[in-house]
Amino acid sequence: MKRRRFATSLLAGVGAAWGLGATGLAAAQGVATVPAQAGAASSAAPAAGPATGAAGAAAPATALPVVATFSILGDLVRQVGGERLQLDVLIGPDSDAHVFQPRPSHARQVRQARLLFSNGLGFEGWIPRLLQSAAFRGQHVVVSRGIAALRSADHGHSHGGHGHGHSHGEHDPHAWQNVAHARSYVRHIADALCAADAPGCDFYRQRAQAYDAVLAQLDADIRAAWAPIAPAQRKVIVSHDAFAYYGQAYGVRFLAARGVSSDSEPTARGIVRLVQQIRQEQVRALFVENVTDPRLIEQIARETGLRPAGRLYSDALSAPGGTAPTYVDMLRHNTQALTRAIVGA
Ligand code: ZN
Repeated sequence: MKRRRFATSLLAGVGAAWGLGATGLAAAQGVATVPAQAGAASSAAPAAGPATGAAGAAAPATALPVVATFSILGDLVRQVGGERLQLDVLIGPDSDAHVFQPRPSHARQVRQARLLFSNGLGFEGWIPRLLQSAAFRGQHVVVSRGIAALRSADHGHSHGGHGHGHSHGEHDPHAWQNVAHARSYVRHIADALCAADAPGCDFYRQRAQAYDAVLAQLDADIRAAWAPIAPAQRKVIVSHDAFAYYGQAYGVRFLAARGVSSDSEPTARGIVRLVQQIRQEQVRALFVENVTDPRLIEQIARETGLRPAGRLYSDALSAPGGTAPTYVDMLRHNTQALTRAIVGA
Protein backbone atom coordinates (compact mmCIF):
# COMPACT_ATOMS: atom_id res chain seq x y z
CA MET A 1 0.00 0.00 0.00
CA LYS A 2 2.75 2.38 1.01
CA ARG A 3 4.79 1.51 -2.09
CA ARG A 4 1.84 2.12 -4.31
CA ARG A 5 1.14 5.55 -2.86
CA PHE A 6 4.78 6.45 -3.39
CA ALA A 7 4.65 5.40 -7.02
CA THR A 8 1.51 7.43 -7.62
CA SER A 9 2.92 10.60 -6.11
CA LEU A 10 6.13 10.17 -8.08
CA LEU A 11 4.15 9.96 -11.31
CA ALA A 12 2.11 13.01 -10.35
CA GLY A 13 5.36 14.86 -9.70
CA VAL A 14 6.69 13.97 -13.13
CA GLY A 15 3.41 15.12 -14.67
CA ALA A 16 3.39 18.45 -12.84
CA ALA A 17 6.96 19.44 -13.57
CA TRP A 18 7.28 17.52 -16.78
CA GLY A 19 10.28 19.38 -18.14
CA LEU A 20 12.50 18.54 -15.21
CA GLY A 21 10.85 15.23 -14.49
CA ALA A 22 11.38 13.82 -17.93
CA THR A 23 14.98 14.97 -18.13
CA GLY A 24 15.67 13.37 -14.79
CA LEU A 25 13.94 10.21 -15.93
CA ALA A 26 15.91 10.08 -19.15
CA ALA A 27 19.18 10.69 -17.33
CA ALA A 28 18.37 8.03 -14.74
CA GLN A 29 17.80 5.50 -17.51
CA GLY A 30 20.87 6.41 -19.50
CA VAL A 31 18.96 8.00 -22.38
CA ALA A 32 20.75 10.75 -24.25
CA THR A 33 18.75 13.94 -23.78
CA VAL A 34 20.31 15.52 -26.87
CA PRO A 35 19.64 13.08 -29.71
CA ALA A 36 21.56 13.08 -32.96
CA GLN A 37 18.89 15.03 -34.83
CA ALA A 38 18.73 17.84 -32.30
CA GLY A 39 22.50 17.91 -32.15
CA ALA A 40 22.65 18.50 -35.87
CA ALA A 41 20.30 21.46 -35.46
CA SER A 42 22.25 23.14 -32.71
CA SER A 43 25.86 22.53 -33.59
CA ALA A 44 27.01 20.01 -36.16
CA ALA A 45 25.24 21.37 -39.24
CA PRO A 46 25.56 25.15 -39.36
CA ALA A 47 24.52 25.15 -43.02
CA ALA A 48 21.16 23.53 -42.28
CA GLY A 49 19.21 26.71 -41.62
CA PRO A 50 18.30 29.46 -44.04
CA ALA A 51 20.87 32.23 -44.16
CA THR A 52 19.42 34.71 -41.72
CA GLY A 53 22.77 35.77 -40.26
CA ALA A 54 23.52 36.77 -36.67
CA ALA A 55 21.71 33.62 -35.57
CA GLY A 56 23.73 33.15 -32.39
CA ALA A 57 22.38 36.38 -30.92
CA ALA A 58 18.89 34.93 -30.65
CA ALA A 59 19.86 31.73 -28.83
CA PRO A 60 18.14 31.59 -25.45
CA ALA A 61 19.68 30.25 -22.26
CA THR A 62 17.46 27.17 -22.39
CA ALA A 63 16.21 25.76 -25.67
CA LEU A 64 12.50 25.07 -26.20
CA PRO A 65 11.92 21.30 -26.15
CA VAL A 66 9.90 20.25 -29.19
CA VAL A 67 9.22 16.99 -31.00
CA ALA A 68 8.52 16.40 -34.69
CA THR A 69 7.16 13.05 -35.76
CA PHE A 70 9.28 12.35 -38.87
CA SER A 71 12.44 13.54 -40.60
CA ILE A 72 10.84 15.74 -43.29
CA LEU A 73 8.74 17.64 -40.77
CA GLY A 74 11.75 17.78 -38.45
CA ASP A 75 13.68 19.65 -41.13
CA LEU A 76 10.87 22.19 -41.63
CA VAL A 77 10.69 22.78 -37.86
CA ARG A 78 14.48 23.18 -37.69
CA GLN A 79 14.50 25.70 -40.55
CA VAL A 80 12.14 27.92 -38.55
CA GLY A 81 13.31 27.27 -35.00
CA GLY A 82 17.06 26.86 -35.45
CA GLU A 83 19.11 26.87 -32.28
CA ARG A 84 16.26 28.11 -30.09
CA LEU A 85 14.91 24.55 -30.15
CA GLN A 86 15.91 21.30 -28.58
CA LEU A 87 14.38 19.21 -31.36
CA ASP A 88 13.71 15.50 -31.16
CA VAL A 89 12.61 13.67 -34.31
CA LEU A 90 10.81 10.41 -33.59
CA ILE A 91 11.23 8.74 -37.00
CA GLY A 92 14.65 9.33 -38.46
CA PRO A 93 16.10 9.33 -41.99
CA ASP A 94 15.24 6.47 -44.36
CA SER A 95 12.66 5.13 -41.89
CA ASP A 96 9.05 4.34 -42.68
CA ALA A 97 6.41 6.17 -40.63
CA HIS A 98 3.66 3.83 -41.85
CA VAL A 99 5.06 0.95 -39.82
CA PHE A 100 6.55 2.93 -36.92
CA GLN A 101 5.98 1.61 -33.43
CA PRO A 102 6.77 4.01 -30.58
CA ARG A 103 9.13 2.74 -27.90
CA PRO A 104 9.39 3.94 -24.27
CA SER A 105 12.28 6.25 -25.25
CA HIS A 106 9.91 8.04 -27.67
CA ALA A 107 7.34 8.48 -24.90
CA ARG A 108 10.04 10.08 -22.74
CA GLN A 109 10.92 12.54 -25.53
CA VAL A 110 7.26 13.42 -25.99
CA ARG A 111 6.67 13.83 -22.26
CA GLN A 112 9.20 16.63 -21.96
CA ALA A 113 8.15 18.49 -25.11
CA ARG A 114 6.32 21.80 -25.05
CA LEU A 115 5.19 21.31 -28.66
CA LEU A 116 4.62 18.19 -30.70
CA PHE A 117 4.44 18.68 -34.47
CA SER A 118 2.70 16.02 -36.53
CA ASN A 119 1.65 15.83 -40.17
CA GLY A 120 -1.88 14.60 -39.53
CA LEU A 121 -4.23 13.21 -42.23
CA GLY A 122 -3.81 9.76 -40.72
CA PHE A 123 -0.05 9.57 -41.37
CA GLU A 124 0.77 9.00 -37.70
CA GLY A 125 -1.99 6.63 -36.63
CA TRP A 126 -0.05 5.82 -33.45
CA ILE A 127 -0.18 9.41 -32.11
CA PRO A 128 -3.21 9.22 -29.77
CA ARG A 129 -1.80 6.21 -27.96
CA LEU A 130 1.66 7.75 -27.69
CA LEU A 131 0.32 11.05 -26.30
CA GLN A 132 -1.65 9.15 -23.72
CA SER A 133 1.17 6.86 -22.64
CA ALA A 134 3.55 9.84 -22.47
CA ALA A 135 1.04 11.93 -20.44
CA PHE A 136 1.80 14.72 -22.93
CA ARG A 137 0.83 18.15 -21.59
CA GLY A 138 2.19 20.39 -24.29
CA GLN A 139 0.50 21.52 -27.46
CA HIS A 140 -0.07 19.18 -30.38
CA VAL A 141 0.27 21.05 -33.68
CA VAL A 142 -1.08 19.35 -36.81
CA VAL A 143 0.77 21.14 -39.60
CA SER A 144 -1.44 19.99 -42.49
CA ARG A 145 -4.37 21.92 -41.03
CA GLY A 146 -6.18 23.99 -43.63
CA ILE A 147 -4.74 22.44 -46.80
CA ALA A 148 -6.98 20.97 -49.49
CA ALA A 149 -6.40 17.28 -48.75
CA LEU A 150 -6.70 14.72 -51.53
CA ARG A 151 -8.76 11.65 -50.96
CA SER A 152 -6.94 8.32 -50.76
CA ALA A 153 -7.09 6.50 -54.05
CA ASP A 154 -7.78 2.80 -53.82
CA HIS A 155 -5.53 0.85 -56.16
CA GLY A 156 -7.03 -2.49 -55.30
CA HIS A 157 -4.45 -3.39 -52.71
CA SER A 158 -5.30 -5.75 -49.92
CA HIS A 159 -5.95 -4.43 -46.44
CA GLY A 160 -5.58 -7.81 -44.78
CA GLY A 161 -3.06 -9.21 -42.41
CA HIS A 162 -1.17 -6.27 -40.95
CA GLY A 163 -2.64 -4.83 -37.80
CA HIS A 164 0.20 -2.55 -36.89
CA GLY A 165 0.92 1.11 -37.15
CA HIS A 166 -0.42 2.33 -40.44
CA SER A 167 -3.75 3.87 -41.10
CA HIS A 168 -6.01 3.66 -44.11
CA GLY A 169 -7.60 7.04 -43.57
CA GLU A 170 -9.89 8.68 -46.06
CA HIS A 171 -7.25 11.26 -46.98
CA ASP A 172 -3.85 10.92 -48.60
CA PRO A 173 -1.36 12.09 -45.95
CA HIS A 174 1.64 12.87 -48.21
CA ALA A 175 0.77 16.56 -48.62
CA TRP A 176 4.38 17.77 -48.18
CA GLN A 177 5.19 16.62 -51.73
CA ASN A 178 3.49 19.82 -52.98
CA VAL A 179 5.78 22.73 -52.07
CA ALA A 180 2.78 25.04 -51.63
CA HIS A 181 1.64 22.78 -48.79
CA ALA A 182 5.09 22.80 -47.20
CA ARG A 183 4.91 26.62 -47.18
CA SER A 184 1.61 26.32 -45.32
CA TYR A 185 3.23 23.86 -42.85
CA VAL A 186 5.97 26.45 -42.22
CA ARG A 187 3.40 29.17 -41.42
CA HIS A 188 1.76 26.87 -38.84
CA ILE A 189 5.16 26.02 -37.36
CA ALA A 190 6.09 29.71 -36.99
CA ASP A 191 2.70 30.54 -35.40
CA ALA A 192 3.03 27.70 -32.88
CA LEU A 193 6.64 28.58 -31.96
CA CYS A 194 5.67 32.24 -31.49
CA ALA A 195 2.80 31.27 -29.21
CA ALA A 196 4.99 28.95 -27.13
CA ASP A 197 8.08 31.21 -26.99
CA ALA A 198 7.09 34.87 -27.32
CA PRO A 199 10.63 36.27 -26.78
CA GLY A 200 11.75 34.30 -29.86
CA CYS A 201 8.87 35.36 -32.07
CA ASP A 202 10.80 37.87 -34.21
CA PHE A 203 13.53 35.28 -34.71
CA TYR A 204 11.00 32.64 -35.83
CA ARG A 205 9.14 35.04 -38.12
CA GLN A 206 12.35 36.21 -39.76
CA ARG A 207 13.56 32.66 -40.39
CA ALA A 208 10.14 31.50 -41.61
CA GLN A 209 10.03 34.40 -44.06
CA ALA A 210 13.55 33.69 -45.37
CA TYR A 211 12.77 30.00 -45.72
CA ASP A 212 9.48 30.75 -47.47
CA ALA A 213 11.45 32.61 -50.15
CA VAL A 214 13.64 29.51 -50.58
CA LEU A 215 10.51 27.36 -50.97
CA ALA A 216 8.94 29.77 -53.47
CA GLN A 217 12.10 29.50 -55.57
CA LEU A 218 12.06 25.71 -55.24
CA ASP A 219 8.46 25.60 -56.48
CA ALA A 220 9.35 27.77 -59.49
CA ASP A 221 12.39 25.61 -60.27
CA ILE A 222 10.32 22.40 -60.21
CA ARG A 223 7.83 23.91 -62.65
CA ALA A 224 10.68 25.04 -64.91
CA ALA A 225 12.21 21.54 -64.85
CA TRP A 226 8.94 19.97 -66.04
CA ALA A 227 8.05 22.65 -68.58
CA PRO A 228 9.92 21.10 -71.56
CA ILE A 229 8.32 17.65 -71.05
CA ALA A 230 5.02 17.00 -72.84
CA PRO A 231 2.18 16.22 -70.40
CA ALA A 232 1.50 12.88 -72.13
CA GLN A 233 5.03 11.70 -71.28
CA ARG A 234 4.85 12.55 -67.58
CA LYS A 235 4.06 9.06 -66.30
CA VAL A 236 6.01 7.28 -63.59
CA ILE A 237 5.78 4.01 -61.65
CA VAL A 238 6.52 4.12 -57.93
CA SER A 239 6.05 1.51 -55.26
CA HIS A 240 3.68 3.27 -52.86
CA ASP A 241 1.22 6.02 -53.57
CA ALA A 242 3.13 8.90 -51.97
CA PHE A 243 3.29 11.33 -54.89
CA ALA A 244 -0.30 12.30 -55.66
CA TYR A 245 0.23 15.83 -54.31
CA TYR A 246 3.42 16.23 -56.33
CA GLY A 247 1.56 14.88 -59.35
CA GLN A 248 -1.32 17.29 -58.90
CA ALA A 249 0.91 20.30 -58.35
CA TYR A 250 3.36 19.68 -61.18
CA GLY A 251 1.29 17.74 -63.70
CA VAL A 252 2.80 14.27 -63.38
CA ARG A 253 0.92 10.98 -63.33
CA PHE A 254 2.16 8.45 -60.78
CA LEU A 255 1.04 4.85 -60.89
CA ALA A 256 1.66 3.05 -57.61
CA ALA A 257 2.10 -0.67 -57.12
CA ARG A 258 0.86 -0.34 -53.55
CA GLY A 259 -1.68 1.95 -51.94
CA VAL A 260 -1.02 5.07 -49.89
CA SER A 261 0.54 3.04 -47.12
CA SER A 262 3.86 1.38 -47.86
CA ASP A 263 2.64 -1.45 -45.68
CA SER A 264 -0.28 -2.69 -47.77
CA GLU A 265 0.31 -5.76 -49.88
CA PRO A 266 -0.42 -5.58 -53.60
CA THR A 267 -2.53 -8.39 -54.97
CA ALA A 268 -1.35 -10.58 -57.83
CA ARG A 269 -4.22 -9.23 -59.93
CA GLY A 270 -3.24 -5.68 -59.08
CA ILE A 271 0.29 -6.31 -60.35
CA VAL A 272 -0.93 -7.89 -63.59
CA ARG A 273 -3.17 -4.88 -64.14
CA LEU A 274 -0.31 -2.48 -63.47
CA VAL A 275 2.00 -4.31 -65.90
CA GLN A 276 -0.71 -4.10 -68.59
CA GLN A 277 -1.17 -0.42 -67.88
CA ILE A 278 2.56 0.25 -68.13
CA ARG A 279 2.62 -1.37 -71.61
CA GLN A 280 -0.57 0.29 -72.87
CA GLU A 281 0.33 3.74 -71.69
CA GLN A 282 4.01 3.44 -72.56
CA VAL A 283 5.19 4.53 -69.14
CA ARG A 284 8.86 5.41 -69.33
CA ALA A 285 10.13 5.64 -65.76
CA LEU A 286 10.18 3.29 -62.82
CA PHE A 287 11.53 4.15 -59.37
CA VAL A 288 12.28 2.56 -56.03
CA GLU A 289 11.85 4.57 -52.82
CA ASN A 290 14.02 4.99 -49.80
CA VAL A 291 11.36 3.69 -47.40
CA THR A 292 10.00 0.67 -49.27
CA ASP A 293 11.17 -2.82 -50.11
CA PRO A 294 12.51 -2.69 -53.71
CA ARG A 295 11.51 -6.26 -54.61
CA LEU A 296 8.07 -5.41 -55.96
CA ILE A 297 9.47 -2.73 -58.28
CA GLU A 298 12.21 -5.15 -59.37
CA GLN A 299 9.52 -7.73 -60.26
CA ILE A 300 7.61 -5.16 -62.30
CA ALA A 301 10.88 -4.16 -63.98
CA ARG A 302 11.49 -7.78 -65.05
CA GLU A 303 7.98 -8.15 -66.44
CA THR A 304 7.99 -4.87 -68.37
CA GLY A 305 11.62 -4.62 -69.42
CA LEU A 306 11.86 -1.19 -67.80
CA ARG A 307 14.90 -0.53 -65.70
CA PRO A 308 14.52 1.17 -62.29
CA ALA A 309 15.72 4.73 -62.90
CA GLY A 310 16.87 5.39 -59.37
CA ARG A 311 15.51 6.18 -55.96
CA LEU A 312 12.89 8.69 -54.89
CA TYR A 313 12.49 10.08 -51.40
CA SER A 314 8.86 9.93 -50.38
CA ASP A 315 8.24 9.78 -46.64
CA ALA A 316 11.71 10.29 -45.17
CA LEU A 317 14.89 12.23 -45.82
CA SER A 318 18.26 10.60 -46.38
CA ALA A 319 20.84 10.62 -43.61
CA PRO A 320 23.03 13.74 -43.37
CA GLY A 321 25.62 13.53 -46.14
CA GLY A 322 23.22 11.58 -48.38
CA THR A 323 21.35 12.80 -51.47
CA ALA A 324 18.35 14.29 -49.68
CA PRO A 325 19.23 15.41 -46.15
CA THR A 326 16.76 18.34 -46.23
CA TYR A 327 13.29 18.96 -47.61
CA VAL A 328 14.63 21.24 -50.34
CA ASP A 329 17.29 18.68 -51.32
CA MET A 330 14.62 15.96 -51.41
CA LEU A 331 12.35 17.85 -53.81
CA ARG A 332 15.30 18.86 -56.00
CA HIS A 333 16.64 15.30 -56.11
CA ASN A 334 13.23 13.79 -56.90
CA THR A 335 12.50 16.31 -59.63
CA GLN A 336 15.89 15.85 -61.26
CA ALA A 337 15.64 12.04 -61.10
CA LEU A 338 12.11 12.04 -62.54
CA THR A 339 12.71 14.47 -65.38
CA ARG A 340 16.03 12.86 -66.38
CA ALA A 341 14.48 9.39 -66.43
CA ILE A 342 11.67 10.53 -68.71
CA VAL A 343 13.83 12.60 -71.04
CA GLY A 344 16.48 9.90 -71.24
CA ALA A 345 14.04 7.02 -71.82
ZN1 ZN B 1 3.71 6.95 -47.35
